[in-house]
Amino acid sequence: MAFKRMFRFPGDFPDSVSAQVQLPIRLGGFGLVSASTIARAAFLGSIGVTAFDVSSRFRGAPWMPQGGPAALLDLPWLRAAVPALAAISEVVGPSFSLPSLQDFLSRPQVRLQQRLTDQLHKFRFNELFKSLPPDSRARARLLSCQRPLSSGWLSAIPSSDSKTLNNFQYRHAVAGCLGIALPHATVSQRCICGGEVDNFGDHFYVCHTGRERVTRHNNMHNFFVRILAEADVPSNVEVSLHSLGITPPDDNPNNQRMDIYCVIDGSDYLLDVTVAHPCRPDNSPIPFHRTVNRRGAQLPGGKAAQLAEKDKIDKYGPITQAAGFRFVPLAAETFGRFGDKTMDFLKMLAKRKPRLTSIPMEEYTAFRESIVNHWSQLLSVELMKHNAFQVASRAQRAAAARGPRRASAFPEDFVSRGPYRPHTSPAAGL
Ligand SMILES: [Zn+2]
Repeated sequence: MAFKRMFRFPGDFPDSVSAQVQLPIRLGGFGLVSASTIARAAFLGSIGVTAFDVSSRFRGAPWMPQGGPAALLDLPWLRAAVPALAAISEVVGPSFSLPSLQDFLSRPQVRLQQRLTDQLHKFRFNELFKSLPPDSRARARLLSCQRPLSSGWLSAIPSSDSKTLNNFQYRHAVAGCLGIALPHATVSQRCICGGEVDNFGDHFYVCHTGRERVTRHNNMHNFFVRILAEADVPSNVEVSLHSLGITPPDDNPNNQRMDIYCVIDGSDYLLDVTVAHPCRPDNSPIPFHRTVNRRGAQLPGGKAAQLAEKDKIDKYGPITQAAGFRFVPLAAETFGRFGDKTMDFLKMLAKRKPRLTSIPMEEYTAFRESIVNHWSQLLSVELMKHNAFQVASRAQRAAAARGPRRASAFPEDFVSRGPYRPHTSPAAGL
């Protein structure tokens, strides 16, 4: 409830929204994990680390139960684990082997809380996934909110402009990822292309009229240029394939250039950025839209980014390789999930970052992960900014085409009012 008020969304939320919000970020949620979900795991985790310690240190002490190892099983705080184990076993099922009381006493249960919590979250995710209709937009959206690299906008600390969303952009990102209808998307029933618009802005993400898509693409590739620079790799943008001695795949003017050319450790790289939209309105009359939803809704997800990578590789892979280049497609889905090739590329770049002598060797892996994390936040925040712009701008165009009064129907939702500003009065109940 507090969450709904905080974002001032109109209408009621379906149950699936609160279920998704409570999932960890890596599973497509917002990480607002419910205490009741993890309380038992935390309790058992704490017994897992203390029971062995107590039994090995204090066995035989006058205040401990007497009568050998079996008597220890009667310790009241150990007995309290029994109902907790039973309750968790009911949720995680027989495939996860839970420790017995004897196991608790005979060896420390390393990372038990984390392993149990992982299982519980997986269970909650599966429950949510199964509750959404097969091949639906909702399933495709949920899978597209998962890693790799998605949700950087949620974890980014707004320390600079490039990691800050304003209120409008933030609400837009929240609504997009949770499948909440955008009131401004349908202010006009038809786009200027004549296509029917929908509650979630799907049409505006795929419509080819207007320049908003191009702006988003160009800004995303500028962020890859910045990332390369942070890894000490100079790069050149919008490079003509002819100038590199590569024959373009065809005569299409869009296919004559490559987004980024750079040299990494003596190898020539060509990078091309693309953003694919993984879902379409469920009730779309266009048969192809159902195909898109079907693909997007299959576990483990990421199909749209994967297909976008494949399209790019089919088009540019052979011709660039023949000329001695390495080609990397940088493919994202609208909700922020990137293809595996981007992930591999960023990991490779992170390895180039020199290790500061203040960072011990054993923390180097964590250091590299933090760099990839920082980059994922840059990319994710940028993508969310442009998603908000794209939908709002296209909706406003559509409304303006129907008369000036329609354009001001939802001023608060349309207008990006500068930087983040806190609400002047907190919503009641927070
Ligand atoms: Zn359109």
